[in-house]
Amino acid sequence: MPPVTVRVPAKVNLYLGVGKRRRDGYHELANVFQAVSLYDEVTAAPGPGLSVRVRGDQAKLVPTDSSNLALRAAALLAETTGVDAAVRLTINKAIPIEGGMAGGSADAAGALLACDELWGTGVGRDTLLRLGASLGADVPFALTGGTALGTERGDRLTPVLARGTYDWVLALADGGLSTAAVYAELDRQRADRVFPEPGVSEALMSALRAGDPAALGRALTNDLGPAALQLRPALARTIEAGLDLGVLGAVISGSGATCAFLCPSEEEAIRVAAALAGAGVCRSTRRVHGPVPGARIVDEADRP
Ligand code: ATP
Repeated sequence: MPPVTVRVPAKVNLYLGVGKRRRDGYHELANVFQAVSLYDEVTAAPGPGLSVRVRGDQAKLVPTDSSNLALRAAALLAETTGVDAAVRLTINKAIPIEGGMAGGSADAAGALLACDELWGTGVGRDTLLRLGASLGADVPFALTGGTALGTERGDRLTPVLARGTYDWVLALADGGLSTAAVYAELDRQRADRVFPEPGVSEALMSALRAGDPAALGRALTNDLGPAALQLRPALARTIEAGLDLGVLGAVISGSGATCAFLCPSEEEAIRVAAALAGAGVCRSTRRVHGPVPGARIVDEADRP
C-alpha cells in the first residue's frame, strides 16, 4: 500500500466569545473560525506498530510519545474499526506550536483521514467528525475547513455564509502560549463574575455575508485577548506595529501567541509582512489567505 499524505490547514479565530466555565472544565464558546492557507502535512505509511516523526523548524517542541495528537487519532481509529494499529506517521509541521492556530488538532484530523485511507476503513465523514470531536474541540473544524461557527465547546459546527477571500499576515511569536494557561488567566481576571451565553456579533456575520474586508477588520474580536496579553505583554507591541501599518484589523488568534492582521489586498499583505518582519516584533511572518477547505488527501500528481 503506498503512503497517503493529507494536507490540513491552520485556523484563525475571527470571533472568539467565551462564556461561563462548564462543569467539564471547558468554557461555553461562540467561535467563528476561518481555515487559512498554512498547512501541516501528515503522511501515513505502513509500519510495524504506531510511530510518529516530526519535521520542521519547531519539530523538537512536539512530543513523539503516545501524547502526540496524531498518534492518538490513529490509535482511536484502529480501536474503533478493529484494524491492526500499524502505521508510521510523518508530520511536516508548518503551523506554529502553541500558536493558537490549532496545529495539534490539524495533525489529529490529518492522521484520521490518512489512516482511514491507508487502512481502507472507509468510516465516512460523520464518524470522522465524531472521532475528531472526542480528540479535541478544534479537530472537527480542521476536517471541514471554510468558515464556520462553533458553539458549546466550539465543536458544534455550523457553516457560515462567507463571501470573498481574505488576505492575512500572521506574525508568529517567539514562544508559544499554553491554551490552558490563557483560559486560567481569563478565569482569574473574571473572578466570580457571571458571564452570559456567548453570541456572535451581527456586525461580524454581516461583514462575512457581504464579503466586506473593512467591516470584518472592525469586527474581529477575541475575549481571550486580554488574558493572552497579560501573559505575554510583548504581543501588544506586535499588534500596535500592525495597526500603525494601516491594516484593516488585528486579532490574537485563539489563545495566542500568533497575531493575525487582515489586509485589503495581496499587495498590501506583502508590504505589511515585510514591514513587520523588519520591525523585530515577531519571530517571522507568513502571508496566507482564507477561507480554504479542510483536510484533503494530496494527489502526488498535482504537486508543483
Ligand atoms: P489551539 O489553537 O487548539 O488552542 P495551539 O495551536 O495553541 O492550540 P498546539 O500547537 O496545537 O497549540 O499544541 C498544544 C500542545 O499539544 C503542544 O504544547 C504539544 O505538547 C501538544 N501536542 C501533541 N501533539 C501535537 C502535535 N501533533 N502537534 C503540536 N502539538 C502537539
